[in-house]
Amino acid sequence: MKTFSLPARTLQIAGLALLGATAAMTAWADHSWGGYHWARTTPQFTLKVGNNMSVAWTPRLTQASSDWNSPTTFGATSTPLLTAIVTGTSNKRCSMVSGTVQVCNGRYGLTGWLGLASINITGGVHITQGIAKMNDTYFNTATYNNPNERQHVVCQEVAHTFGLDHQSTDGSSQNSCNDYFSNTGANAASTSSTRPNQHDFDQLNIIYSHLDSTTTVANAVAATASRGVDISDDASSWGQMVSQSANGRSSVYERYNANGSKTVTHVFWTEEKTANCRACDHRYE
Ligand SMILES: [Zn+2]
Ligand SMILES: [Zn+2]
Repeated sequence: MKTFSLPARTLQIAGLALLGATAAMTAWADHSWGGYHWARTTPQFTLKVGNNMSVAWTPRLTQASSDWNSPTTFGATSTPLLTAIVTGTSNKRCSMVSGTVQVCNGRYGLTGWLGLASINITGGVHITQGIAKMNDTYFNTATYNNPNERQHVVCQEVAHTFGLDHQSTDGSSQNSCNDYFSNTGANAASTSSTRPNQHDFDQLNIIYSHLDSTTTVANAVAATASRGVDISDDASSWGQMVSQSANGRSSVYERYNANGSKTVTHVFWTEEKTANCRACDHRYE
């Protein structure tokens, strides 16, 4: 599309039509998160994943990274996106670091959320940086404190920073970590939905089937901290709620930043938090 000398608006419309057509043809793999993706100039790229996690979580992050690097294990032939775990360069609040994903855990309090992922977007679709946070206030309780539930959530939150959305939010298992099956209670010993499945890789290949003329992926390990685009521990910093699943457990928030970028946050709520009012904005319950 970049070679046509048409007005930008026409290109935009043509691009949207093309996206629509692609989506219609591939309904079996349609869980892109808003078309968001990292800009890159090569068919395959490596995303640096900063490990800011505790000893209890690090094996879970290592497993998730390994799984996302292993498409053939899950019946897919290839992946455009490789992950490389590097020493975390974020802080306790999991501030963003440009060109990277920073992954954190901590006692974030009785917030109602188990995990969240936040990405910063420029140019409408390009991810420039991302974070994923796991809330130990819940993961340290008996209900959630097991390796399978941890694996499921960290695999999913990291995947959101790739531009992947959920395959399902109704609680059924698609045997993908991008579903809302709960590895708790009677299912605590189940490894279902703790890893990606083939559809996740199919979707990644669709999202990253084009090349960009620039890159938003950091080449140096020590990327610069970015200011003014972070969400904070205060949930009102997420901005406006823009969508929520029918059962209320998955919500998306957007905020517009002074530098013209957008920060989009995917929040995974606990069942307890959502049970009283499925359609409410759970930040204010
Ligand atoms: Zn692009
Ligand atoms: Zn999610």
